Amino acid sequence: MNEQLKFLIELQELDSAILSIAEKAESLPRKLEQYKTPLKEAHDAYQKANLSYDSLNKKKKDKDLKLDEIQDKVNKLKTRGSDIKTNKEYEAHLKEIQVFEKNMSDIEDEILVMMEEIDSFEKELKSEELKVKKAEEELKEQEVILGSEQKQFQADLDKEKAKRAEFVSRIKEEHYRSYMNLMDRLGDKVVVETKNEVCLGCNTNIPPQLYNDIRKNDELQHCFYCTRFLYYKESPPQDDQGQDLAPSA
Ligand SMILES: [Zn+2]
Repeated sequence: MNEQLKFLIELQELDSAILSIAEKAESLPRKLEQYKTPLKEAHDAYQKANLSYDSLNKKKKDKDLKLDEIQDKVNKLKTRGSDIKTNKEYEAHLKEIQVFEKNMSDIEDEILVMMEEIDSFEKELKSEELKVKKAEEELKEQEVILGSEQKQFQADLDKEKAKRAEFVSRIKEEHYRSYMNLMDRLGDKVVVETKNEVCLGCNTNIPPQLYNDIRKNDELQHCFYCTRFLYYKESPPQDDQGQDLAPSA
């Protein structure tokens, strides 16, 4: 095989490996994002429960105050009992106290219901708090895992890039320039195989004469359509069932 062609194929392999590592490294922040959503949801649920809990506590406090207020009134009424002269006045006085006391007993019932609700809200809050903690822990765990993956990717990238920098010097400048131009224009694969008279880069049929030349692998050839570098890969020898035979080496 033409030496420059061999180098270009190797350069393509190096660049594909570099691109694939870079892609994986770039996907890490998105992965971490996935663990931020459950934390936010747990946090929102906790906040919501906390708001309801606060407003219920406030309502209960208002009822407590109201209860004290009525209790004061009743106490005052009771001390005025000695000023009463007639039976009629006394009956009216008792009635007034009864109305207030009924009112108080209603409020006390309401407060009891609220206390039960507050109790169950406290349990809910605790469970929401646990969910928040769990989501926080999971996020932290993932940060550590993804952080070490990131480091590994970076180390792999540095290694591959160093290998590439050294390797590039073997390729003639004009070939390297046209390789890089193709890379800029087409992205990942610019040195591609041909198979059954087809360019595997753009799937265009290759004219028979050109295909014959490509099969020799002794010169740099380009697809007439997409202009990628083309080469031919010998199929491994097959047995009579069409199965690949293990390489004899
Ligand atoms: Zn092509």
